[in-house]
Amino acid sequence: MSSTQAAAETPRKYQLFIDGQWVDAESGKTFETPNPATGKTLAEVAEGDKADIDKAVAAARKAFEGKWSKTSARERGRMLYKLSQLIEARAKELAELETADNGKPIREAQYIDLPGVVENFEYFAGWATKIEGETIPVPGQMFNYTLREPVGVCGQIIPWNFPLLMAAWKLAPALAAGNTVVLKPAEQTPTTALELGKLIQEAGFPDGVVNIVPGFGETAGAALASHKGIDKIAFTGSTEVGKLIAKAAADNLTKVSLELGGKAPNIVFADADMEQAINGAMMGIFFNQGQVCCAGSRLFLHEEVKDEFLERFKERAGKIKVGDPTDKATQMGPQVSEEQLNRIKSYVDLARTEGATVLSGGCPPTLEGDFQKGYFFQPTIFSEVQNTMRVAQEEIFGPVVSVITFKDESDLIRQANEVAYGLSAGIWTRDITRAHRFAREIKAGVVWINTFNMMNAASPFGGYKQSGYGREMGKHALEMYTQVKSVWVDLSGKPIGWFGK
Ligand code: NAP
Ligand code: MG
Repeated sequence: MSSTQAAAETPRKYQLFIDGQWVDAESGKTFETPNPATGKTLAEVAEGDKADIDKAVAAARKAFEGKWSKTSARERGRMLYKLSQLIEARAKELAELETADNGKPIREAQYIDLPGVVENFEYFAGWATKIEGETIPVPGQMFNYTLREPVGVCGQIIPWNFPLLMAAWKLAPALAAGNTVVLKPAEQTPTTALELGKLIQEAGFPDGVVNIVPGFGETAGAALASHKGIDKIAFTGSTEVGKLIAKAAADNLTKVSLELGGKAPNIVFADADMEQAINGAMMGIFFNQGQVCCAGSRLFLHEEVKDEFLERFKERAGKIKVGDPTDKATQMGPQVSEEQLNRIKSYVDLARTEGATVLSGGCPPTLEGDFQKGYFFQPTIFSEVQNTMRVAQEEIFGPVVSVITFKDESDLIRQANEVAYGLSAGIWTRDITRAHRFAREIKAGVVWINTFNMMNAASPFGGYKQSGYGREMGKHALEMYTQVKSVWVDLSGKPIGWFGK
């Protein structure tokens, strides 16, 4: 792959990656992934379905029982580290491909997604040799210890908003712990995961340890989630599909971890540093075109500062540079698909019906040339929103923020928690007691104080309530990919219980 290829006119071609081989789908079918900035076809991709998932699960099982189980922790760590270096060496090309497939601005792909991918593989490379059991001080002449073992074959289904980064969040801890994987990338953005497959081969992972099967959710995804041959399924995406995954897994009692939607409160108190809070509100909702599960999509403003804040926020939102995502100056690219664009438009209509005010944006921008066919939308602010409205309760997944006002802290906490989701929350205040009180009272898996969207491979990320269960990143991610075995050894040499002589 060269850097110019990502934007090339002739579509690229990708096959499935199964058992270390690049193969066509059993059905021979392919699908196209468009560049959302222009609507043109970026790549033609083999369309995996049940038959290919069966093959991939069998390959992952064979690798798990075979070569991979005999690979030492140190070797696994070295391969993961090598992979991180291979990615880093090709970060620029991969960022360009990510931008071409997903539409995110190149500066985000280059300075946020790719460094995050490298960081995650590097971080979990270090963990491979540090996954340990314990000795337990049980009474009597007994020795009790635990073994922390891999779960086995893991199915991993990922979304399109951070395609390669989500692959890294899932693959890195699974491989560090000694599991094998069948990964299904999202149909909208399969290309970078498949490029990653090439680097996985180059890093020396044995055949079948990682299998990558692009295809559609209803076919390939459903076949993977309901497969009897997998030991665990990890999913990131909508709460609606998360529930389908949990139901499919229930039949086989497959272990499940889910990272689902959010409707995060981002809260500004009157004592906040307004400039910082405005920046935080912008990062909270316009980053990645708002296609972020932890986006600050409910902006709570204290009634004392509401007018001043909104005036400045609106002005800044109106200046955001929306357009060609390959241009380094661009701050927002297109939404990932026409479907997402239409979904956002329908929420703008709904906001008006519900009695909210569309304070700014609310429609696509006027762009020229090829970009007229892209799925662009303007940064949009709904004001006069009530927390009970659907635009305040449902995940829109676009550059659309619902502004709600509050009077005091108890009113705020009640409203902030009155939502089905609980992924993240932000608060802007100079009062440290209030900030930490909020951190305790909010029902969310991640809390940001005077910052937003901060993440690191070492820090756990995941949801409360309908935002899912399990934690990604940090040592907590290893809990999802290991299981504990308790081993008892008699040290007395005497018969136990009353059945002896
Ligand atoms: P989605 O349907 O939940 O897609 C996420 C992943 O699940 C994709 O790989 C998808 O495959 C797969 N999938 C879909 N249906 C499946 C099924 N029945 N069984 C197994 N896997 C299945 O998300 P979406 O439709 O792309 O987006 C819809 C909404 O989901 C967004 O508007 C947003 O609210 C939410 N979302 C949340 C996140 C997040 O990070 N929490 C990410 C993306 C979307 P295909 O793409 O190939 O169909
Ligand atoms: Mg695409």
